[in-house]
Amino acid sequence: MRFIAEENIPRLLGRLAANAAVWAPQVVKDTVNTVLFAPWRAGGEIETGAYSALSAKELVLPATERLFSYRYRRAGEGERIGIKGCAPQERVVIFGMRACDAKALAVLDALFLSRSAGSYNDPYYQGRRSGLTVITLACTSCDSACFCSSFEKGAAETAGSDLIFYPVSGGYLAGPVSEKGKELAAVDLFQDSSQEKPGLAKTAKVELVGIQQRLLERFDDIDFWRLATEVCLSCGYCSYACPACHCFNIFDETDGDRAGGRYRCWDACMFYAYTLESSGHNPRPEAAHRYRNRLAHKFSYFPLNRGEILCTGCGRCIRGCPAGLDFRDVIRAVSAG
Ligand code: SF4
Ligand code: SF4
Repeated sequence: MRFIAEENIPRLLGRLAANAAVWAPQVVKDTVNTVLFAPWRAGGEIETGAYSALSAKELVLPATERLFSYRYRRAGEGERIGIKGCAPQERVVIFGMRACDAKALAVLDALFLSRSAGSYNDPYYQGRRSGLTVITLACTSCDSACFCSSFEKGAAETAGSDLIFYPVSGGYLAGPVSEKGKELAAVDLFQDSSQEKPGLAKTAKVELVGIQQRLLERFDDIDFWRLATEVCLSCGYCSYACPACHCFNIFDETDGDRAGGRYRCWDACMFYAYTLESSGHNPRPEAAHRYRNRLAHKFSYFPLNRGEILCTGCGRCIRGCPAGLDFRDVIRAVSAG
């Protein structure tokens, strides 16, 4: 293990900032304790004690991104269309991501960077992901919304991280996970250490055995879903805040008469319009149908199709739901019935 003293963290980030944009969790200006990941500047405060209201998935899947621009040009008697692609190649280091969010990155990687035959490799995601270095902060404590211990590795998860910082007296032990992480931990701000890693957080657990099948069996019981989700406002916060949700829509916008661009924007299955068909029919007209889909996608359809649960237990959708709907209560109710 390597060790870095607390006072060397700003120096480390300052050095990294010479070649990359550095992002870190920070309290949003004029709020009491709303924390978001944001670009860090030398001298800036970093908030490592509170949970960020949104994950940092925007670094690989921005809320809005231009995929390409087009412009019609005169060509003789007619016109030709010129298309200019946008190929993101930024270098970004994120400091202070949690293991649950890093794990979600690994889940998104398997989806957007598929190497298997016939699968699609998303060049926009790939451009951002390959330039991203993830320094994870291991959790030694948790709050009542966290439930990562429901999954195999819990707070000891390493997937998606390059380097993991474990808080110890006076600084952090640093455990490299990838080659990028090894290179980072080799610089002179770190030293070898024989200190023991601290004990990691043990969160509340939700029993997930059999949930995949139970969700399928519960599908047609719409009265169950109505009762379980009657307070849901369909606001979509749970999807936008989630590090693993990745639905998007594609829009074309004109920029003057003969030019424009194509954009990819986050979407959320909790919105009424998400499944609204042009005929006016909506196969998920109520919050109950939409919530059922959100839960079943994460714990049944996605695992069936891709072998992974689409949730890492970060707790954001519980902590931040304006209606106080606790995802875990619905999972327990599905299992119990
Ligand atoms: S479950 Fe909560 S956060 Fe999600 S859409 Fe409903 S009210 Fe919003
Ligand atoms: S579903 Fe909720 S707890 Fe699970 S990863 Fe998404 S926001 Fe976190």
